[in-house]
Amino acid sequence: MKILIATGNPHKLKELLGVLPTKTRRGTPLQYVSLADFSGLHLPPENGQTLEENAALKAVYAARKTGLAAISDDTGLEVDALNGAPGVYTARYAGAQADDDDNNRKLLSALEHKQLPQRTARFRTIACLATPEGQTCTFEGTLEGFIGFGYRGTNGFGYDPIFMVDDGKKALAELTETQKNKISHRGKAFRKLAAQLTAEVPVK
Ligand code: IMP
Repeated sequence: MKILIATGNPHKLKELLGVLPTKTRRGTPLQYVSLADFSGLHLPPENGQTLEENAALKAVYAARKTGLAAISDDTGLEVDALNGAPGVYTARYAGAQADDDDNNRKLLSALEHKQLPQRTARFRTIACLATPEGQTCTFEGTLEGFIGFGYRGTNGFGYDPIFMVDDGKKALAELTETQKNKISHRGKAFRKLAAQLTAEVPVK
């Protein structure tokens, strides 16, 4: 069975391929393709009000367009001192054209005067599996941590250099991909989705 991973982010694709199963419990092979295999396919803008809506709108669109089961996800960073912001706006925190560095700088500066107990945050991922007929099921994963005081590490992407885990001993960007997958929000959400694929539970 061929499944489309509806992402154009090569880091994310690599992380997901490390978690998703290559065959079901009954031995059916699972083969993955990505947006890179469909040059004309562009995902719709993430204009939902929630992570759940955004994950579903991307997966359903990709599944309908290709006729394949499709997987998508949406992740938000929820900072307690900012009442859960940036949340659904995590990718665009510093503006529509913002890159990772702009977002990280804006967040560090928003928390400039906050000490440790006020810097708690979590990543929340919603993974969605959709059929070409438009049925969906979603899976959630979270990772608790806090926002650091500067940049650490060079691995990963996005907010990884400023998101502290392991009781503040390390930033996510200091973990290897395998270490990150084991604890990460996306790893958790996709292990749940992987269990559904492995068990061949129908999507309804
Ligand atoms: P998306 O939903 O995966 O597109 O991610 C939304 C925003 O969260 C983007 O700014 C990403 O860079 C950021 N993000 C998503 N996952 C991670 C992660 O695992 N580490 C750091 N930042 C992430």
